[in-house]
Amino acid sequence: MQNNIEFLYQRYLECRHVSTDSRAAQDQSMFFALNGPNFKGAKFAEMALEKGAKYAVVDDPAMASDNVFVVEDTLQTLQDLARHHRRQLSIPIIGITGSNGKTTTKELIHAVLSQKFNTLYTQGNLNNHIGVPLTLLRIKPEHEMAIIEMGANHIGEIALLSSIAMPTHGMITNIGKAHLEGFGSLEGVARGKSELYVHLLEHGGTVFINTGNEHLMRMSRRIENKVTYPAQEDYYHSELLEASPYVVYKDEEGNVVHTQLVGSYNYENMAAAACIGKYFGVPLQKANEAIAGYSPVNNRSQVLKQDSNTIILDAYNANPTSMAAAVRNFGSMNAPKKVVILGDMFEMGAESETEHRTLGEVLNKQAFDTVILCGKDMKYAAEVNENFLYFETKPELQTWLRKNPVAESYVLIKGSRGMGLETLVEEL
Ligand code: ATP
Ligand code: MG
Repeated sequence: MQNNIEFLYQRYLECRHVSTDSRAAQDQSMFFALNGPNFKGAKFAEMALEKGAKYAVVDDPAMASDNVFVVEDTLQTLQDLARHHRRQLSIPIIGITGSNGKTTTKELIHAVLSQKFNTLYTQGNLNNHIGVPLTLLRIKPEHEMAIIEMGANHIGEIALLSSIAMPTHGMITNIGKAHLEGFGSLEGVARGKSELYVHLLEHGGTVFINTGNEHLMRMSRRIENKVTYPAQEDYYHSELLEASPYVVYKDEEGNVVHTQLVGSYNYENMAAAACIGKYFGVPLQKANEAIAGYSPVNNRSQVLKQDSNTIILDAYNANPTSMAAAVRNFGSMNAPKKVVILGDMFEMGAESETEHRTLGEVLNKQAFDTVILCGKDMKYAAEVNENFLYFETKPELQTWLRKNPVAESYVLIKGSRGMGLETLVEEL
């Protein structure tokens, strides 16, 4: 049994590359055989070594050899190794959590800070108890800064991730109704996210905070090192509302920045990045260029221009807060004809019926030409207004769209990942 973390750390330093997927195990990497719900990781160790991994860390004592190290718990060891690595570093580490906008904000901050620093950041959405340690273990001596996205769907998770990443700086993007199933309520969500503030408070870290967010202002009361930035309305200038779906904003000196982001909720994501850039001394002009140059990936509020329709595809995820924000934003957009297609919000637990109905009411306050709702629980939203079109399944909706083509319209598509609404683009 290899219980000595320093021993494993020395082996890690020989590789500087950790993998957990045997198929992707790279040459000279250290492979961690993590167990899944339905499989034992140890059985993949051999494959990883064949692929060129230098070492494997497993929990099966029968496999011990010169380059296969046996530990009691491979996940725990991965986390301990990341924590050990983190302790050797003296660079600023920015932890980001929140209900919505973590990835977008993280990427905007990365774009801005990269103007001045060699910055490491979470790849994609690797923000959980495995992704955070893997991200930390990618920090190399040349990195001057790291941005770590931390996700959570239950209490205690952010505390664990903070204990591994030990952020020196942190931000909660917002508190919203996401993952209610695991957190129980909005108060539960707030408590879960506040674990980041607790960590920063205990370690004298610095919090970046949006003055427009009462929840966060209240939660951060006891933290001394606070850097605030103005509420998003301050960046928003109605005279800049154009027919273009993209957000245009004015920075604190009045410079106009044309972005590639859709949705007024992105003001706060950009403001966060601008604030952090300023704090770390990135020139304003450079920060603006970075924000203007950033374009989102993975179905996160992408704009697709078809022959006759302009589609705002936001099929990456959905929860009551982000749905309401997207609907209101679409409502305020200047477009000839507007069609909304929304799919079920998942992981709502006992709140699902109420939250879908509330969304129906939000929709009802807007003037859209067509509202199309799809999914089992969207039926509650559909009950709010008899003019809303309702389809229980996506194939039914697809058939309808083929018979009733949408043309010359702006179309907002949003739903939970599991609904896979991006495939609707083909019918438009
Ligand atoms: P995940 O929990 O999957 O990691 P995330 O918090 O990283 O999500 P993003 O991937 O940045 O969030 O954005 C996902 C969606 O959330 C966007 O497509 C948009 O609809 C919505 N969103 C982004 N920023 C905000 C915001 N500041 N407020 C409300 N909704 C937002
Ligand atoms: Mg994310």
